[in-house]
Amino acid sequence: MNAKAPAHRNIVVLGSTGSIGTQTLDVVRQHPDRLSIVGLAVNSSLEKLQQQALEFNVPNLAMGAPSNEAATAGIPCGQEAVLELCRLPEVDLVVNALVGAAGLRASYEVLRAGKVLALANKESLVVGGDLLIPMSTHETLLPIDSEHGAIYQCLLGEDPAEVRRLWVTASGGPFRGKTRADLAQVTVEQALAHPTWRMGSKITIDSATLMNKGLEVIEAHHLFAMPYEKIEVVVQPQSAIHSMVEFSDGSVKAHLGTTDMRIPIQFALSYPERWEAPVEPLDFRLLGSLEFAAPDTDTFRCLALARAAGSRGGTLPAAMNAANEVAVATFLAGNCPFLSIADAVEAAMDACDVEPVESLEQLEEVDARARAVAAKYLNR
Ligand code: MG
Repeated sequence: MNAKAPAHRNIVVLGSTGSIGTQTLDVVRQHPDRLSIVGLAVNSSLEKLQQQALEFNVPNLAMGAPSNEAATAGIPCGQEAVLELCRLPEVDLVVNALVGAAGLRASYEVLRAGKVLALANKESLVVGGDLLIPMSTHETLLPIDSEHGAIYQCLLGEDPAEVRRLWVTASGGPFRGKTRADLAQVTVEQALAHPTWRMGSKITIDSATLMNKGLEVIEAHHLFAMPYEKIEVVVQPQSAIHSMVEFSDGSVKAHLGTTDMRIPIQFALSYPERWEAPVEPLDFRLLGSLEFAAPDTDTFRCLALARAAGSRGGTLPAAMNAANEVAVATFLAGNCPFLSIADAVEAAMDACDVEPVESLEQLEEVDARARAVAAKYLNR
């Protein structure tokens, strides 16, 4: 990569106390000469937010959830306060690590304000890719997802017309190899025990159902303008290969590395440069074997449902995603069986009148309707 990154970047981190947020701050700690944090937003973790603000000397803070305590401390609350951070004139780049469809409006505002969007909130693209992609370029939308960061790097210097297939890798999650009968009784604790990646609870459950891979297929479709028939999922249990691109001459480029999210996070912040990173190097002599398998979409129905939603397009992925968010929250609260997550998603997809995507407001209505359908299904 020849081009230079700006000498210094002012960044905002949305969702700064979550898994991606705290690892982003780790990257900033390593590169104080290149990165400054000018804004931090959280949903509700006030105390941690104040600690971060103190350590990084951050002038602008916001909290999504209403809070008297935060207001007393002079921290603006509510969605508008979070969006305001994205529009600050001194901001160059915003890391969107919010959870769920709630991140869409922030992604929209970041791109509309002409800032670089480093996107960990994949739901933004799943729900609103049809709106966001026309507002973005290769340089202004950088994925913070290990698979998409990998594909992005494999495609550098390549002609997209010469791509035969994208291979999105999946660890298979904690229930790889299990049958539907096995999954009927699994607990929240078992579902949260991811074999290779340490992440927040929503995405960890999505990894256990393979919905995360379904969301990533849709994310890849939007990010790389790739038709669904050219996007394959392959289980790679060691998570050493973060994804691959196959070209028209049969060549395949793979991106490998240690399973440490700070690598894709830093790439999104350093692009088009690469910086030193204090991560454990991958030692191929200790790696052992690499395994590959087809995903079991009969057992893990969410992957097939998400692919169907993406292929149909329009507002269907928004409905699918909203139902999944409700079902995952219900499962995490101990109020529905694991297998009901896919059933609730399917019920909401069946009830959705699919329309072309037109606006954020329309997507919010679709989202609300699908949440109601899923909640009704799960409480039946
Ligand atoms: Mg991923």
